[in-house]
Amino acid sequence: KPERIAFLGLGAMGRTLARTLLEAGREVTVWNRTPGKAGDLVARGAREASDPGEAIDAGDLTVACLLDDASVRETLAPVLRELSGGPLVNLTSGSVRQARELARWLDGHGVRFLAGGILAVPQTVGTEAASVLYSGPRDLFDRVAPVLSPVGRPHWVGEDPGFASLYDMAALSGMYGMSAGADHAVALVHAEGGDVEAFKRDVLRPWMERMLPIIAGEADVSVSVPEEYNAAMQATGLENMISTSEEAGVPAELSGHLRASLWRMRRAIAAG
Ligand code: NDP
Repeated sequence: KPERIAFLGLGAMGRTLARTLLEAGREVTVWNRTPGKAGDLVARGAREASDPGEAIDAGDLTVACLLDDASVRETLAPVLRELSGGPLVNLTSGSVRQARELARWLDGHGVRFLAGGILAVPQTVGTEAASVLYSGPRDLFDRVAPVLSPVGRPHWVGEDPGFASLYDMAALSGMYGMSAGADHAVALVHAEGGDVEAFKRDVLRPWMERMLPIIAGEADVSVSVPEEYNAAMQATGLENMISTSEEAGVPAELSGHLRASLWRMRRAIAAG
């Protein structure tokens, strides 16, 4: 018999997750603070609860996908007794410390808890491109993963409840870094009158695809620079990129990643 899911939160992400679970044949009871967001889901077979406690009582497993940590606490505080009957999976983004403190708070009320981090956007939920990071008790993950796998490939990252957030925030940092670089690249080509679409298609994308394994593989916490990358040569290269950007009149906030790399390179040179 499929596990019944209580789903709290029908924002852009919550709605998409709930719909994907319904389409995969799960039995889902939904709740949202502001009523009127469940129509489409009810048409697909969901039940709508009028308060969180009613939803939790109708599920073997509760999933929360709310705005932030404060909204999770506000929603769960009145229903801790109901929650002690079945595990809670929190797919709401937050900081590492918030996740650890939430785990402690829930543990104090006898609630089994798995923390999650969604590595997807609503458009990719339910596709090969989506994965969900989980951390917390391994046995709980083993039980929950098959139930929630339709939304994205489940990936357990450790017992520490903070680790799902940690890996999520760190992975997003990698994405924003690449995104900042790509935005700056396009701004530069645009400012100098280049063909932005051709640049993106024929140069930027193939280049980034070739560099991606190297970037992710060689990412490092130290300021040391491998032998084959002469630090002085790299510093000069970065100065050239920054000058090109300044000459083109690209706003300085778009080249912040280059300035940060130059700063690191100069530190490496100074450290010998
Ligand atoms: P939305 O802003 O679309 O929805 C927020 C949801 O939280 C709504 O259901 C809202 O209810 C509810 N909410 C807000 N405050 C409270 C409160 N005090 N008590 C109860 N419910 C509350 O956000 P998303 O659905 O896009 O995101 C949800 C979570 O998923 C976030 O943590 C986000 O970081 C994460 N996420 C989102 C991604 C995305 O691309 N959208 C990608 C990866 C993660 P109401 O309708 O009443 O306002």
